[in-house]
Amino acid sequence: LGKNLTKTMKKLAGMAIIDEEVVKEVIKDIQRALIQSDVNIKLVLNLSKTIEDRSLNEEPPKGVTPKEHVVRIVYEELVNLLGSSAQEVEIDKRPYKILFMGLQGSGKTTSIGKLTKYLQKKGFNPAIVSTDTWRPAAYEQLLQLTEPMNVPVYGDHENKDALDLARTGLKAAKKNDVIIVDTAGRHKEESDLLAEMESLSTIVDPDEVIMVIDGTIGQQAGEQALAFNNATKIGSIIITKLDGSAKGGGALSAVAEIGAPIKFIGTGERVEDFEAFDPDRFISRLLGMGDIRTLLERAEEIAEEEGDMGSVDAMLSGKFTLKDMYSQFEMMNKMGPMQQVMNMIPGAGGKLPKNASQVTEEKLSKYKILMDSMTDQELEHPEVIKQSRVKRIARGSGMKNEDVKELLKYYNVTKKAMKGFGKRKMGGPLGQMMK
Ligand code: GDP
Ligand code: MG
Repeated sequence: LGKNLTKTMKKLAGMAIIDEEVVKEVIKDIQRALIQSDVNIKLVLNLSKTIEDRSLNEEPPKGVTPKEHVVRIVYEELVNLLGSSAQEVEIDKRPYKILFMGLQGSGKTTSIGKLTKYLQKKGFNPAIVSTDTWRPAAYEQLLQLTEPMNVPVYGDHENKDALDLARTGLKAAKKNDVIIVDTAGRHKEESDLLAEMESLSTIVDPDEVIMVIDGTIGQQAGEQALAFNNATKIGSIIITKLDGSAKGGGALSAVAEIGAPIKFIGTGERVEDFEAFDPDRFISRLLGMGDIRTLLERAEEIAEEEGDMGSVDAMLSGKFTLKDMYSQFEMMNKMGPMQQVMNMIPGAGGKLPKNASQVTEEKLSKYKILMDSMTDQELEHPEVIKQSRVKRIARGSGMKNEDVKELLKYYNVTKKAMKGFGKRKMGGPLGQMMK
């Protein structure tokens, strides 16, 4: 099937103008690929209608082939649904309470172990509360899973009252900065399960409800999500078992039905098998195409040539975040040290402050490890990083407070340099270059 799509795409690639027949053919192939990936048929039909309309009515930018044009539209429509970038669990209050939900076997307990480890790496200090009174030895499962992590897990083998377990656990864990509540995924009747979730939600008063969906279940994902969402508003989604052949297309219906973003995916049984959701990769997989990014790159280059400088522009205007610095580091890995890069730009050589240009490889990797322990909010708005966050980041990355401060200092110096650099751009020779 992926092959089919590639074949029609090739046909389209060879054409100079958009031909309605061929667009329709490509769309049929895309429909097949999506249905094969378990995307709900109604959703596929809706999507393809929009894709067809846009492909035939929108003028492709100059120099963009019809193929690139259609691929871009398909991509944009899927991104519309899934979001364009990974979204994080943002711990913005203490304790931050997360309630897990999902059917038995979907991977809740395993994902809780994974999220716990992930949060510990970010320097948080989570605790887990077990309220699953249905699965035999549910509490032991959690204890076993988290044994190497040194994390408090509250539960009781004897107590069969989920609500009581929640109350007791929350009280015991109130000193932790994140509390994760595990729940049952089964009951005598589905309505009993949903009623229990509703009551638990009232007692826990969660800051975020995460629904766990088995990536292999296909079409039922939408209905399941709706049912849980009626019991309590779902805030985000984790899709599990994407290490197998499943494409996870069912989850797309869940997203479409309840409008909650996918935040993580599970890619195996071990606690390490956990990734931040990457829409690009997910979409490539759904379509059965190779890396969709690569396909779109050329179109992007053209858009840039047309004057949309994107992040470079943001950088030069002085909006330079830690995230920008992170990408800069990655660029430096490819292009050589910053000083060298600056030397290549007329009028900018030698203008970087000393300690901004002399960043060794060793420092670079140290800074990257530190930044990996920061949350998205901290990377985008470094000004929020005060003493307590410095401590947490140091703890999560296994470094000292001084290291975090050193990184922040380096960031500030670089940011200032970038700002000056941007000003020169306006009038100077660089301004000409950017045009
Ligand atoms: P729960 O009933 O929702 O708590 O589900 P569990 O966490 O107990 O997981 C059910 C089964 O699915 C276990 O055998 C897990 O090892 C397995 N599992 C969970 N997540 C993944 C995953 O991402 N990939 C794979 N291959 N198996 C998983
Ligand atoms: Mg469980």
